[in-house]
Amino acid sequence: LDEARLLQSLTDRFLQQRIYTYVGDILVAVNPFQRLPLYEKPIAEKYRSRAKGSLPPHIFAVADRAYQAMLGRLGMGPQNQCIVISGESGAGKTESTKLLLQHLMNLCRGHSQLEQQILQVNPLLEAFGNAQTVMNDNSSRFGKYVQLRFQQSTVRGAKLSEYLLEKSRVVQQDAGERNFHIFYYMFAGLSAEEKEIYGLLDPARYRYIGGHSGTQAMIECWKHKYREVCNALDMVGFQEQEQVDMQAILAGVLSLGNVSFQPQESNGAVQVGEVSRGWLKAAAGQFGVQEEELLSCLICTVSVTRGEQIQRLHTQQQAEDARDSIAKVAYGRVFGWIVCKINELLAESVDPDVELREIGILDIFGFENFVVNRFEQLCINLANEQLQHFFNHHIFQLEQAAYREEELPWETIAFTNNQPILDLLLAKPLGLLSLLDEQSRFPQATDKTFVDKLNSSFKGNVHFQLVRGRVPSFSILHYAGKVQYSASGFLEKNRDTLPANIRGLFINSITPLLSVLFTATISRTGTLMPHIKAKVPLGAGDNFNNTRKQSVGAQFRHSLSVLMERVYSATPHFVRCVKPNSRKEPGVADSQVLLQQLRYNGLLETIRIRREGFSWRPSFEEFVQKYRILLIKPDADLSKESCLEILQSTELAGWKCGKSRLFFKYWHQEQLARSVEHLEKA
Ligand code: ATP
Ligand code: MG
Repeated sequence: LDEARLLQSLTDRFLQQRIYTYVGDILVAVNPFQRLPLYEKPIAEKYRSRAKGSLPPHIFAVADRAYQAMLGRLGMGPQNQCIVISGESGAGKTESTKLLLQHLMNLCRGHSQLEQQILQVNPLLEAFGNAQTVMNDNSSRFGKYVQLRFQQSTVRGAKLSEYLLEKSRVVQQDAGERNFHIFYYMFAGLSAEEKEIYGLLDPARYRYIGGHSGTQAMIECWKHKYREVCNALDMVGFQEQEQVDMQAILAGVLSLGNVSFQPQESNGAVQVGEVSRGWLKAAAGQFGVQEEELLSCLICTVSVTRGEQIQRLHTQQQAEDARDSIAKVAYGRVFGWIVCKINELLAESVDPDVELREIGILDIFGFENFVVNRFEQLCINLANEQLQHFFNHHIFQLEQAAYREEELPWETIAFTNNQPILDLLLAKPLGLLSLLDEQSRFPQATDKTFVDKLNSSFKGNVHFQLVRGRVPSFSILHYAGKVQYSASGFLEKNRDTLPANIRGLFINSITPLLSVLFTATISRTGTLMPHIKAKVPLGAGDNFNNTRKQSVGAQFRHSLSVLMERVYSATPHFVRCVKPNSRKEPGVADSQVLLQQLRYNGLLETIRIRREGFSWRPSFEEFVQKYRILLIKPDADLSKESCLEILQSTELAGWKCGKSRLFFKYWHQEQLARSVEHLEKA
């Protein structure tokens, strides 16, 4: 099998609407960009406790296999599992996640409320965390890891971790992109009276949503989505007052975005014109705070030094930054709070002594390469590098190390190891993130000095390229291709500083929810705040609950390493999503687009290693214990000889025997399971 043939075979299958293909035990899913009749009940029923080879490749088969493996039915004892879904933006990761969840819930078959709830929280997450981008109309702007917890075959709880919500989208979107869906849903779904209560005017007037209103068809769709969100909010257990507050906060964010500042030459302060005053008043009302106090957070910084209050007036730029950071932190907190509430709802209520097994599903933002790439893209692409590394580690390094150790004859397969890129980004103290942190601590540093620093540190590094131009920029040669980053805003985004008095302002808000969101110690709900507090370093990404302030880059690095620890300790299943074309069109396969993804995904190398490799490697003891029934000799000793005797009694071919264990292809395991089944029936 070579590149051309893999491409041909995927294309042919795709054009026959067979979008799923196995490459060894990895599922490749080509995005159909249309609803295919693949997921109906009768089909789902077939993918239940089935050997993988006996049915066409399917995302449901991956769910089934993870479930069986978690229960220990695949010969390796019960183990935690994780399903790692990768692919570039728009390739179908989130859709695949939903299908996996749907099938897993179907497999447990308890019809419990919890199973329904696990499926129903998704619209909520997507409304607040997804947005239209040029790559994908429903692009996830945060990463998520869902952990399903099982007691035997029954799901007992679920936990959601979110990674790095792209908060900057609240205040700015590039051409062809939109703000988070929820803003548009609100305008479409609220009645005229409700809009009046929230003080919402014509959507075209709000700068943060770029004056976008939709076509009539879109508005109808948004209306429907808004209802779905409201239902989900009720279901998750948000009180009516909380829902009202939440929408008021979102309205406040939009009004705040319309406040603009003019420099006032006489004293260097900024001025707020009459129109802006109106928006400021509206925002203060929506946030439930005093207009003058909000204004003062925007136009000056007050600090206390040796008991003395010092007031520093903002420049226009600083005032605009203050405005935008207030909007971002308010939105980010609402999102974090929704995730907390979902976790409270789905948390397992079992005796802590009961041992639970877990299936995790990882759906992070795909690799991104836009016309302009910023700090967010760097973080997203870093996460993808990490995943690629995990994939390589699992598929290539572990596998080859195992063969060497067992002295099997094995020809080493070369693969593209992306460790040098991870080092470039993560090394301490000289990786990109560390250098960024170092620069972020200097008040005088600028995006330009940051890039200069990178240039001098990474001179000669093959994965780094200097870019000459007006805007300080640099390029990184990622595993998936070269990406040029504009450094402007890197320092500010990494610092994520907040106007000093904003926390006090919001804590004193008469809007109860806003006050809760900004209270660090005790909350009214009692349980909520410890979660929020604990979660801050995991990705909520704002700073002021921490005594020791951490940069966004450092927080992200930490949350990634927690995540990687989790996936490295589970048995992985890989789903590689690919896009057939860049125009989101059904039935069109663009070979260039496909080929590029197959190459950087490492799928060709994977084919070779999977064809020649062995996915199941029981020790002699393990094997005899499990299969001595095939010899009808209950006292067979746990030796290599017994293994060989058992294997000779079957017609299995192609397995290998090492020093202490046997090496099998995945289908061997299925054949053995079938033989046992026959025997037991007989
Ligand atoms: P991002 O990284 O931007 O979040 P993604 O990989 O999560 O991208 P999805 O949102 O899952 O991409 O998919 C993009 C779009 O492709 C979906 O909105 C849907 O229209 C279509 N799509 C993906 N998978 C399927 C599928 N199995 N069946 C039908 N349509 C699909
Ligand atoms: Mg997605």
